[in-house]
Amino acid sequence: MEFRYHRPATVADACALGQRLGAGAAFLAGGTELVPDYQRGRETAGDLIALAGIPGLRGIESGGDTLRIGSLTTVADVARSPLVARWLPALAEAARALGSPAIRNRATVGGNFCRAVSCADLPPAALVAGARLRIATPGGARDVAAAEFFVGARRTVLGPGELLTDLLLPAPPAGRGTRFERFSLRRGMALAVASVAARLDVERGVIAGAAIALGAVAPTPMLVPEAAELLRGGRPSAALFERAAEVCAAASLPIGDVRGSAGHRRRVVRVLVRRALERAAARATTEGPVS
Ligand SMILES: Cc1cc2nc3c(=O)[nH]c(=O)nc-3n(C[C@H](O)[C@H](O)[C@H](O)COP(=O)(O)OP(=O)(O)OC[C@H]3O[C@@H](n4cnc5c(N)ncnc54)[C@H](O)[C@@H]3O)c2cc1C
Repeated sequence: MEFRYHRPATVADACALGQRLGAGAAFLAGGTELVPDYQRGRETAGDLIALAGIPGLRGIESGGDTLRIGSLTTVADVARSPLVARWLPALAEAARALGSPAIRNRATVGGNFCRAVSCADLPPAALVAGARLRIATPGGARDVAAAEFFVGARRTVLGPGELLTDLLLPAPPAGRGTRFERFSLRRGMALAVASVAARLDVERGVIAGAAIALGAVAPTPMLVPEAAELLRGGRPSAALFERAAEVCAAASLPIGDVRGSAGHRRRVVRVLVRRALERAAARATTEGPVS
């Protein structure tokens, strides 16, 4: 297969090229999804628009009440960032769980979101944190909630010529604990059978806010608002966490495949949710606010 390789120097040029070339073009970040997809015949775009030459797309910076993670930032950068560890420990945990050192050194944040596979490791943590995604379009920029970015298996809200530029995390309040848990058939280089991110905001011993997101058990990463509702107003306890875990298992929509049956995945979700909530609660009560 022949490719035409484009190397735009700016985000605006990349968007314009993407719009002009339409469905026959693909943005290339680290290539860890795209290259295997070509090998499997799943990707057929003849024009590759490389993002690597565009300045400003890679980096992690805190500015006031927002942590900005550029879309070309590698998963390895996220895994070792002290800023991410402070703002959203669940995201750092998810990054450390992804692939292997070699994959993490090439894989980017943007690629993990934009390929939109349901077992992608980074989205659940972003969902529970209420993160936003900044999208460059041929006509300017727009932000969408991370929870609204995924519209189906391998489908996002991105239109022709639209490019993810940043993941934006809001500052965590005092009393927040987050945690990412995942189960895979091996410890390294294995996709998640199921994954869970949990957030608890605890004020004076009471859960003032909560969110749970599941990965690999529905066509898209999904929040479970009924579990958050159940947790809100309660006091952290094994019994409450078990009820929330049951709600999440019932809300999940897993398929059975080579990595596990649907029933197995539901049982795994129940265990992971309970575990994630216990660990998020411990963090909520022991760690201070971001400074
Ligand atoms: C051996 C192996 C193991 C893996 N293990 C895991 C794992 O455990 N967990 C996991 O989550 N993933 C895993 N992956 C998948 C992959 O590494 C990640 O999803 C990675 O983050 C993708 O990033 P990338 O930069 O390589 O994306 P690319 O391959 O460059 O791009 C992926 C897709 O996103 C689009 N895209 C990329 N950046 C943008 C952007 N900024 N704006 C718009 N569109 C964009 C591309 O056009 C393409 O369609 C694994 C892959 C391999 C090969």
